[in-house]
Amino acid sequence: MQFDVRGTYRTQSHKDPAYSALTGRLAPEVCPWLSTVDVQAALERDPLWRGRARIETAPARVDSRAGRFAQCADALYYESNFVAAVGSSSLPANIIDVDKLTSHWRRRSPHVARVLDRTARELLETLVGAVAETACAEYTCHEAGHSLGWPIGEKLESCYFRLGAPTGRVAWPLVFAEEFRADLLGLRVARRILAPERALAIFAYQTLHRIGLAAERAYGAGEPEGLVPYLLVDALLQSGTMARDGGPGQRRLTLTSCDPHQLLERVDALIQAGFDALAAVENTASVAPIDVAINAAAYVRRRMTDAAAQAHYTALLSSP
Ligand SMILES: [Zn+2]
Repeated sequence: MQFDVRGTYRTQSHKDPAYSALTGRLAPEVCPWLSTVDVQAALERDPLWRGRARIETAPARVDSRAGRFAQCADALYYESNFVAAVGSSSLPANIIDVDKLTSHWRRRSPHVARVLDRTARELLETLVGAVAETACAEYTCHEAGHSLGWPIGEKLESCYFRLGAPTGRVAWPLVFAEEFRADLLGLRVARRILAPERALAIFAYQTLHRIGLAAERAYGAGEPEGLVPYLLVDALLQSGTMARDGGPGQRRLTLTSCDPHQLLERVDALIQAGFDALAAVENTASVAPIDVAINAAAYVRRRMTDAAAQAHYTALLSSP
């Protein structure tokens, strides 16, 4: 299905609507091994699902983008944030811009070498396989992660990420904890519905994408990336999935095992640790929002006040 839409679009970080346009076509063939129907079914079987959140994303090949669609780094465009101009159609779905994801990947990949040793980098890149389809699957799983427990849509409606009111200051630790939580719960969904090699592909893509983004920002232009890559690196080390390499200064990271079965066991430990730290508190429908916020903020604070972890991460992103 082709689309050619123009109108105004707003994002979470730029709430004022700006003229934006997008042309392309829906491309369900991009990821033949993961459908939103499968993901939704997995959500509905998960004890953490609260009965409302739905996965309604659709991959698309994009020919041209203007305005916010071109300016924002996000590759998921929400139908509800777009207002069509007179004579234009609406966005046909919540679009995953596959071409933007692959472009991000190509630009960020070289930076990963500053953080991961060659063995880890090459194995993870091999596990990713075809970038477009794995990137698309990972994004869909990440959105599923936002839909488990207290779903992100309801958190936004209740101003969970802002202190006290819709205009309140953004509570960034809660934003970063939510994104990190969505990564790990997305991996949990992947492990439940995909073959082990596909779940490992998603883990590998997520790791390279997060680390590549942090390194790109650290060594290139633009604002430093937020805390999500730090939380990920910290959790990779804590779960025994990665360790410091044996090189000079032991700055870079390496995988503790290249055996797929052992790697999968460590990824499962990573997922379980993330669940225990950030999702277990949401495991009952009666939990109060303030308890969720206190738990998430306390987690981020604990990790940010680990001086040794902070020093190592700073060294990782400042090696020559
Ligand atoms: Zn997210």
